[in-house]
Amino acid sequence: MGLIRILMLAVAGLLIYSFYKKLTAGSRRAHDVKEDERLGRLVQDPQCHVYVDSKDAVHRKVKGGDLFFCSEDCADDYLAANQPEESRPS
Ligand SMILES: [Zn+2]
Repeated sequence: MGLIRILMLAVAGLLIYSFYKKLTAGSRRAHDVKEDERLGRLVQDPQCHVYVDSKDAVHRKVKGGDLFFCSEDCADDYLAANQPEESRPS
């Protein structure tokens, strides 16, 4: 009788443990999302379509809009292809 009780306790403990692990895994995911929001937001490079963090991105203002690029090269290539020649210093 004593042994069965110990076994049942062990099974109950395992169930509680796995349930607790599931709970903490879920809350850890939520924490990661918050961490991402704190670090910045993802923006897409319109030249090569890569996603970059707005903090690290190369920022250009074009016609009043904000554009973000992964590198100076992408920014230059994109602006060269999307701006009229006369507005560009040569
Ligand atoms: Zn790029």
